[in-house]
Amino acid sequence: MSIDWEIPLSDVSFDERESKAVLGVLRSGWLTMGGQVQTFEEEFVEAAGCRHAIAVSSGTAGLHLALLALDIGPGDEVIQPAVNFIASANMTLAVGAAPVFADITALETPTLDPGDVERRITSRTKAVVAMHYGGFPADVARLRELCRAHDIALIEDACHAVGAEVEGAGMGSWGAIGAFSFFSNKNMVTGEGGMVTTGDDSLADSVRRLRSHGMTTLTWDRHKGHAYSYDVLRPGFNYRIDELRAALGRVQLGKLAEFNDRRRKLMEAYRERFAPLEERGWMLAFRDAPLWPRASSCHLCAAVAPSREVRDAAQRELKSRRIQSSLHYPFIPAFSAFSEGDEAWRETLTRSEAFCEREITLPLFPAMTESMVERVLEGVVTSAKTRQPSR
Ligand SMILES: *Cc1c(COP(=O)(O)O)cnc(C)c1O
Repeated sequence: MSIDWEIPLSDVSFDERESKAVLGVLRSGWLTMGGQVQTFEEEFVEAAGCRHAIAVSSGTAGLHLALLALDIGPGDEVIQPAVNFIASANMTLAVGAAPVFADITALETPTLDPGDVERRITSRTKAVVAMHYGGFPADVARLRELCRAHDIALIEDACHAVGAEVEGAGMGSWGAIGAFSFFSNKNMVTGEGGMVTTGDDSLADSVRRLRSHGMTTLTWDRHKGHAYSYDVLRPGFNYRIDELRAALGRVQLGKLAEFNDRRRKLMEAYRERFAPLEERGWMLAFRDAPLWPRASSCHLCAAVAPSREVRDAAQRELKSRRIQSSLHYPFIPAFSAFSEGDEAWRETLTRSEAFCEREITLPLFPAMTESMVERVLEGVVTSAKTRQPSR
């Protein structure tokens, strides 16, 4: 049975514009990749300030294609955060390469520590995956410099960071390739869906072909009379997005600035009211990071409790108030599929492990109100005041 949350963790924001767009596609009779997808990609290029945008079926598909297009495979190592959604590590294994986890900078700054990344570079390192946790950009300037110096590729897992930028350059345009997700809990939503961005023409060609079986032409091209046949240059996948989702994505992209602005205001509200928790040893992730428009997409509000027990108590208290919370994320090296073999390096991920044990994600979505922020924090403060039962 599902709980009827009074304040959910996240929520979609749709109105009649989304319905109209999707109905329009249904009535047009062309549902697979076509004109809507092409326009969605063009509009994304414009919004994200990148050279190429290639729409795909999910963020995970985008990460898979990024690794394949960069020719990463068996024998290669890909350095990436241990504090991340599992997709990047899974796709690294899927192409036959080995994930090498690097630590985060600090509990308040849970993005890749460039110094730790550098220490883990070997002759087998082919790429570094940076993830912009919660929508706050990783240190892309230093990571890009580091990657250039070692002749390895920077990949951005930008799934949290749509609409954010650093030094005027959109996330997804700092690395060789970036991947975005439009899953239902992200800042813009198509249900399932994603986007790959790159500034490199030949990587863009590879991603486009690999998205559709490795074929050199599309059904759409043949429909328009541009082509009759095709070649397959390299085996690919069906990672296409359809017209319904692209139409939905276009409407959501149009609202993104407004959504992110609302998220930013709510993040400010969390910051302004966080002092009583700070006094009790809590931290708010990215507390001191800039919050001007586009400095962050404010995808998540992540707080770090003084201990795992205190975090768990907060989660229980919120649940009793029908306020949903979450964890981003369980510590990847502890998953069964990743915990075999030499474990010594795991002990060098102390900040990541502590973060994963003590983090709680609090509700944040555009339709949330400041008074809801107050109710969430009241719940956390109450749990922090209650004495913990001794174990
Ligand atoms: C959502 C997400 C993904 C995966 O995206 P899907 O579209 O669900 O496949 C990958 N990385 C991060 C950081 C994410 O948040």
